[in-house]
Amino acid sequence: FKMRLPLAPSLTQSSHSIASGINAAPSLHGDAGGAPANVLAAVSRLGGQAGFIGKVGRDGFGDFLASTLRHYGIDVTGLTESAEVLTTLAFVSLNADGERSFSFHRNPGADTQLSLDDIDLRLLQQTKVFHFGSLSLTSEPARSTTLAVAKAARQAGCIVSFDPNWRSPLWPHQNEAVEQMLRGIKTAHIVKVSEEELRLLTDTSDVRQGAMTLLKKGPELVLVTLGSEGCFYANRQDLTGRVPSIPVHSVDTTGAGDAFMGGFLWQVTRDSRQPVASWHRQKLEAAIHFANAVGALTASRSGTMSAMPSLSEVNQVLVRGTD
Ligand code: ATP
Repeated sequence: FKMRLPLAPSLTQSSHSIASGINAAPSLHGDAGGAPANVLAAVSRLGGQAGFIGKVGRDGFGDFLASTLRHYGIDVTGLTESAEVLTTLAFVSLNADGERSFSFHRNPGADTQLSLDDIDLRLLQQTKVFHFGSLSLTSEPARSTTLAVAKAARQAGCIVSFDPNWRSPLWPHQNEAVEQMLRGIKTAHIVKVSEEELRLLTDTSDVRQGAMTLLKKGPELVLVTLGSEGCFYANRQDLTGRVPSIPVHSVDTTGAGDAFMGGFLWQVTRDSRQPVASWHRQKLEAAIHFANAVGALTASRSGTMSAMPSLSEVNQVLVRGTD
């Protein structure tokens, strides 16, 4: 969930985080967001089935988040409520160039209190893809819970997907963030990083070299999103390459990475036969091309969850291009 002001600051609230930026402004505009929830909204908008596991406080923000997820067709059976701890608030500001900065009110936030007792692991039996980010890795008990559920998901035959979603204010130290993100990467089959996250995790700004370094940590497929340039991929079968994005007039890139990931994972869920590691080049590039279109369309609109495109909008762009 995200709230915006007309100029620089904005307030964002998500099921893992609620965000706001207050700058002597008279009012805030609310909109839905939050990385894993955005990915689910993208999947749902494309026609897939999505469910959220997480924790909110028993407060108005928590209620709002649950109803927002429901509004976007996301199942909230896995969403629990804390009577003791309030929903986390995350404040997102946009500067005049559309760049974002984040600050968080989380002391501790309900999302960090997610424990294994809160989760019905039978949910995994009906799940094809389990996706997580690193906001749930910043603090205990949510960290151990997330990693344990990711492991259980692998054992249950799910494809596990991870996006580090680097948010520096949430970590006491960068080294700890890198250490925990690498634990997430080891658990996942599919890892999606931005160029900034790749640099942080591998100490190189060479995309190919960085992606190869991440591959050696355990995943089967690494996707590096490159904004308007599209995506670089590298997999365990030694396939590497770039897939250019679809040219659009960029309005707001917030959530474009999540939209991309939702678009990619939606295709993974549709393929029950072949594990993604064995996809041939043409199939992999077609899936990335589709995901690029989902990301590009989202970047061309304001809003985040509300900006996710439908399947027919994506197909239209793929067939006819933009404008
Ligand atoms: P975040 O949402 O956290 O910023 P990210 O850094 O991964 O995530 P981007 O790389 O900006 O996000 O965008 C994700 C994908 O969306 C890109 O790989 C691309 O396919 C598409 N995309 C983003 N911006 C544009 C753009 N200006 N033009 C075309 N496609 C874009």
